[in-house]
Amino acid sequence: MEYWLDAVQNKEKRTVFDFTETENQKLIVKSVKEFCERYLTAEKIREMDDKGHPYPKDVAEGLCSLGIVMGTVPVEHGGSGIDWITQSMIAEVIGYYDPTIATAAGFMAVETGWGFTIDRHCSENVREKYIKPAIKGEKFVGIATTEPAGGSDVAGFKSTAKKEGNEWVINGEKTFISGTEECKEWGGGYWINVRTGPMQPEAPHRNMTSFFLPIDAEGVEIQEPYRDAGRMAISTGGFKMKNVRLPDEYRLGEENKGFYYTMEGFDNARMLIASSCVGVIQRVIDEAVPYIKDRKIFGRPLAKYEAIQFELAEIYREMEALKLMAQKTAWMQDIRYQEEGMPEKTSNAKTFKPTDVAKWISLIKWKGPSLALEAARKAMIWLGAAGYTKEYLLEAAWRGVMSYVVGAEGGLNIQKIVVARELLGKEFIPYK
Ligand SMILES: Cc1cc2nc3c(=O)[nH]c(=O)nc-3n(C[C@H](O)[C@H](O)[C@H](O)COP(=O)(O)OP(=O)(O)OC[C@H]3O[C@@H](n4cnc5c(N)ncnc54)[C@H](O)[C@@H]3O)c2cc1C
Repeated sequence: MEYWLDAVQNKEKRTVFDFTETENQKLIVKSVKEFCERYLTAEKIREMDDKGHPYPKDVAEGLCSLGIVMGTVPVEHGGSGIDWITQSMIAEVIGYYDPTIATAAGFMAVETGWGFTIDRHCSENVREKYIKPAIKGEKFVGIATTEPAGGSDVAGFKSTAKKEGNEWVINGEKTFISGTEECKEWGGGYWINVRTGPMQPEAPHRNMTSFFLPIDAEGVEIQEPYRDAGRMAISTGGFKMKNVRLPDEYRLGEENKGFYYTMEGFDNARMLIASSCVGVIQRVIDEAVPYIKDRKIFGRPLAKYEAIQFELAEIYREMEALKLMAQKTAWMQDIRYQEEGMPEKTSNAKTFKPTDVAKWISLIKWKGPSLALEAARKAMIWLGAAGYTKEYLLEAAWRGVMSYVVGAEGGLNIQKIVVARELLGKEFIPYK
């Protein structure tokens, strides 16, 4: 790992729109591919999908040993200090080798997207106890915003925190949370949002504060995981918080600013899941093409029929478009972070408005999972009955990417609302 890490830490700051892979990026992608060829083979993915969670710890630690989980965390905080374009390339490789998306969901979207964001807002103590071990694969960190009352309305949650001395007393419940079983087994914790003042119906995002909740804190009751349709190797569960006492140093960022930090976390996670979908789609194509070339029906290979050729060409076109969009989005995010805190860059002088970056992120979070779902669905149909079996990973990809269509990291309609908000103006947000 060191040989490429040394190189990337002197990363090139790219301010021109040029996505030719650098030598460093080629090296990283090569080492991730080599790892996946060995440890995330089709047989292993099938075994993981059949067996279900918890995610195999040895594979998680192996991935982490490459420095690619939370790779964007600065070197001085225990990460690899790589940029978002490179992290997105890594996510694409991971999506290709594990098209069930369990690996991408757990370690790219959740740990990298959210772990990076926790690291930006946590105290040194939380970093030492949770972020640094999670980067090594020893612990699991995740995100818990969704509550029984619903997930799309991120500011509509009910959990509360009341301050007593230097501690906060937390009560509430979180549902549909990725990685609860892994977190329980390995140790770690979650980003949570709680209300630290009265709910203001006209501005529900006010009085929202974020905390890091250790999973083993007294008063945390972990519930049985759900029986998910897909991405079986990573669990989805929930937990209740009953009078959990957290010292103030577990607060993430400033009091009552949680909504803005949470949006930042969503941005980072959404970006990586979209890139993972590029990999899933390429894998779907690679699984299906040999079959349709080989399978003869009415005396000719399936691949000779235009009905199939045209669908394949269309999927390919859309995948390439998604890839370019994902690269551009990661590039925008890199520039956004590079410019942060630069005294000469006042908010008016920034290259991109944060909401413009968020719009691009929503475009790819909308396009990625829906396109991957469509690609898997079409490829299953090309293969006929064979496509409906577990001989191919197509059905596992189809079940897995559906999680990001129905809601994980924000449902598709929520992405459309973000895009429309940028096109029409804030006053046209439908639920206000
Ligand atoms: C496998 C999986 C893993 C998950 N992991 C996590 C996790 O780790 N942490 C976490 O906090 N949450 C997690 N979630 C939950 C996820 O964040 C929610 O599913 C998501 O926010 C949507 O919330 P909901 O499911 O309550 O659907 P709802 O909010 O009830 O929405 C239902 C449907 O209505 C649509 N909708 C909502 N509002 C509007 C509107 N104004 N106009 C039109 N349509 C609308 C939504 O897009 C969705 O399709 C996970 C979900 C899944 C499936």
